[in-house]
Amino acid sequence: MQIKLYNTLTKKKEDFVPLNGNEVRIYSCGPTVYSYAHIGNFRTYVFVDNLRRLLKYNGYKLRHVMNITDVGHLESDADEGEDKMEKAAKKENKSPYEIAKFYAEAFFKDMDRLNIERPEIIAKATEHIPDMLEFAKEIVKNGYAYETSTAIYFDVSKLDKYPVLSNRNVDDQIAGARVDVDPEKKNPYDFAIWIKAPENHIMKWDSPWGLSYPGWHLECSAMSRKYLGEVFDIHTGGVDHIPTHHENEIAQSKGAFGKIPAKTWMHVEFLQVNGGKMSKSLGNVYTISQLQEKGIEPLAFKMFCYTAHYRNKLNFTFDGALSSQKALNRLRESYLKHESGTRNIDQSIIDEYKGQFVDAINDDLNIPLAMSTVWEVARNDCKSKDFANLLLEFDKVLGLDLINSGKYIEEQLKIEIPDEIQELIEKRKKAREDKNWNLSDEIRDEIKEKGFIVKDTKDGGMTVEKM
Ligand code: AMP
Ligand code: ZN
Repeated sequence: MQIKLYNTLTKKKEDFVPLNGNEVRIYSCGPTVYSYAHIGNFRTYVFVDNLRRLLKYNGYKLRHVMNITDVGHLESDADEGEDKMEKAAKKENKSPYEIAKFYAEAFFKDMDRLNIERPEIIAKATEHIPDMLEFAKEIVKNGYAYETSTAIYFDVSKLDKYPVLSNRNVDDQIAGARVDVDPEKKNPYDFAIWIKAPENHIMKWDSPWGLSYPGWHLECSAMSRKYLGEVFDIHTGGVDHIPTHHENEIAQSKGAFGKIPAKTWMHVEFLQVNGGKMSKSLGNVYTISQLQEKGIEPLAFKMFCYTAHYRNKLNFTFDGALSSQKALNRLRESYLKHESGTRNIDQSIIDEYKGQFVDAINDDLNIPLAMSTVWEVARNDCKSKDFANLLLEFDKVLGLDLINSGKYIEEQLKIEIPDEIQELIEKRKKAREDKNWNLSDEIRDEIKEKGFIVKDTKDGGMTVEKM
């Protein structure tokens, strides 16, 4: 069945046909490595993983690039505030390079724990400064940029059309424009492609404009062209990239070589927490490790992502994620039961399930719908190796590492009870001895909130397991 993908550029679901025969070229905007990536970021990378797996499942070869932003991303996407890397370096009393190394390693560790495939090419911004400088010079040479006392700005008024991806209206912005940080900017939407480094700035390079550093959007333009050519198949990111970062990448490519760099632009809707934005001030910016501390495995978070289509908002709650953990455990148990099953299943039944699954994933990665087929197979009363193999086939796209189900279940049984939980268990024992049933129930709920389930046994004892 033909793959269909939603393209933000045309606002339509389109038949996907690669530009270069059997090879699909993809560029994914990667993390800015100034702190730990959060579960919202990982929703986007889980989607990228599914996209890779979907294309491979359909027989395509991949050339996939992801960047690591380690310079030039200012606090606001629109050229305001400090460079995020330099700010983190000052705060942690380290060099920006040490910060980048530390958080990039942490990022890839989480990616591995989520069983997310690595792109073929990982490109760090700081290792591509000459490519970016070359790109900036082309933009300037073609008359699309101008110099101010602080930066080289892209002049959006020189473009035939801006914006092309988003609905933001340039005139509205001009009318309601805030006081701009740089009064030398000609239009409010003009953005810095190169920034002149203030005296105390650490990351800076020689350029025709003195010691300076690249603007954030430029790295993706320069590195995608370097590794994938001027026009490639798919560009991915979160929806926050639509109005500024990707709009500006398109502007830059048009300025340098007159083309929109990717054919299909795919964007993942936001992961919210408790129905609202994730933000440091609300204290709800969770990491994969923090989820693990609450008894939610990284792969259970991946499973949680499968409860909504990537183009819909997904609301994270701990209850929801704990349900996904339980569902994942059930799926593993079902797989193992099929694995030791003896029944033979008619090939036509296998083909029908496979057809349903492929129809769902090829329709703009409708994973929630594909999951309904997964569950039908998992729950089938006929226990059969044929179904176990079919689940493994589905897992080529889901990436839940089902083949190792037995190992995960064993590990869960082995999990040590943390001291904090052990203390609560002791308190609960005491409450039960005192016949203080209310307190006993309260402690049981508290233990549950921390990701463990206490069950009372008939002989008056207790068992504890991880949720
Ligand atoms: P950053 O490290 O800020 O450049 O973000 C890395 C990726 O995560 C980008 O593709 C963002 O669009 C995406 N992203 C950021 N916040 C969220 C969120 N709450 N939900 C989904 N994706 C997000
Ligand atoms: Zn980018």
